[in-house]
Amino acid sequence: MSTQIEIREWQPGDGLACSWANRAPSRIPCGPPVAVQVNRVHSGTQFEKAYRRVVCALHLPGSVQPGEVMVDAEKAARERLAVAHWDEYQALIAEEISRRVEEAYSFASEELRRIATGQEAS
Ligand SMILES: [Zn+2]
Repeated sequence: MSTQIEIREWQPGDGLACSWANRAPSRIPCGPPVAVQVNRVHSGTQFEKAYRRVVCALHLPGSVQPGEVMVDAEKAARERLAVAHWDEYQALIAEEISRRVEEAYSFASEELRRIATGQEAS
């Protein structure tokens, strides 16, 4: 068994829906169709069958993986947001740390909780 893959430019009449539309992440929907992929399956020298798929730019064979693109894009966006609001970002981290420390020591004795959270003795 061998598969020969042919790719040609999409043309009107090929159909609109990308063949991977059902499996695309909901936050990165498929774009307009750009190509038709034809997989021809051969057994020895005998032609067996052909599968035809309309694909968008995200699902061209060998193109980027939408899931990976989303992970990278979200990471870059978070970093840009953090840099643009650096002081606020640092203050939120400090808040989250102290909230966690207080929760972790919520069942400890008052003295231990005071030491852990750096509060003044009352
Ligand atoms: Zn697609």
